[in-house]
Amino acid sequence: MTQIYNRIALIGLGLIASSMAHAIKRAGLAGEVVGYARSNETRTIARDMGLCDRIYDTAAEAAEGSDLVVLCVPVGAMESVAIEIAPVLKAGTTVSDVGSVKRAVIDAVAPHLPAGVHFVPAHPLAGTEHSGPTSGFAELFDGRWCIVVPDLCDDEAVVKKLEDLWRAMGSNVDTMDADHHDLVLAVTSHTPHLIAYTMVGVADDLGRVTDSEVIKYSAAGFRDFTRIAASDPTMWRDVFLNNKDATLEILGRFTEELFVLQRAIREGNGAHLHDYFTRTRSIRRSIIEAGQDTAAPNFGRVQSDTK
Ligand code: NAP
Repeated sequence: MTQIYNRIALIGLGLIASSMAHAIKRAGLAGEVVGYARSNETRTIARDMGLCDRIYDTAAEAAEGSDLVVLCVPVGAMESVAIEIAPVLKAGTTVSDVGSVKRAVIDAVAPHLPAGVHFVPAHPLAGTEHSGPTSGFAELFDGRWCIVVPDLCDDEAVVKKLEDLWRAMGSNVDTMDADHHDLVLAVTSHTPHLIAYTMVGVADDLGRVTDSEVIKYSAAGFRDFTRIAASDPTMWRDVFLNNKDATLEILGRFTEELFVLQRAIREGNGAHLHDYFTRTRSIRRSIIEAGQDTAAPNFGRVQSDTK
């Protein structure tokens, strides 16, 4: 694979940045990958594991001289990082991010960037419930979508170069405007996470989460909620605070549907329930056909994973 950028700076060294570092190295996509993390502890871990070619103590030092700077911090921290790196960014540099929300990140970052710097936000739709520099792996993006949001950049070559990077890291690439991205993600990711958090919270309120029977039989569905509900609290707090409108819109529709199903159950309306579940089952089939999940029993988990 050919080198796409001379020097890539990863600001924040958690799951997404460390996976990017591995994927970039796997395919030789940059002359140099450098990084910065907020805490001394994360920087030491990243240095010890040789995650990047160089790890700096400040975001500005990492950004300086890089032709691509990727902000890989929680959505609520994007603005302060942008303010810190802005003075060292030269004209022609591309700044991107991997935040799970796009409109709020654009509003927070764009006003601070100097003229001549290209801002091309992106969002890899790939993740796990794990965080930090040791949680990343090169294959995280393989076969997953990365949404590039070129709203603010009219230089097609700049956008294409970033898309090429994501493709070379294993992703499929699509483009969307920021508001559409936020609505789509509210449906596919943000609201489902909120529902998972709620379901696990309800079980906890009922004092059932640690019941041996709940744990023993959790493979029946509850376990998948607990995995999602173990996702990083800071990241998800920021997602909901920054994608408020779209999440509330989808949550409102969800609540309405839930009431309709509740009534169908109370009234014994089996036809309604059957029709509804038939429709949702076909959605599951189309996700498998699109290659976004496996039809293997138990979601393809090996037996040892299910314990
Ligand atoms: P992560 O593993 O928790 O890592 C976050 C990194 O950001 C850490 O290096 C952390 O530094 C740093 N950081 C946290 N708060 C900061 C602050 N106030 N100022 C400067 N640095 C700060 O997170 P991640 O999962 O990689 O997520 C990073 C971004 O990717 C988020 O915007 C998230 O929305 C997005 N994203 C996540 C997923 C996912 O499934 N996890 C998927 C797609 C996109 P320390 O380690 O020193 O605290």
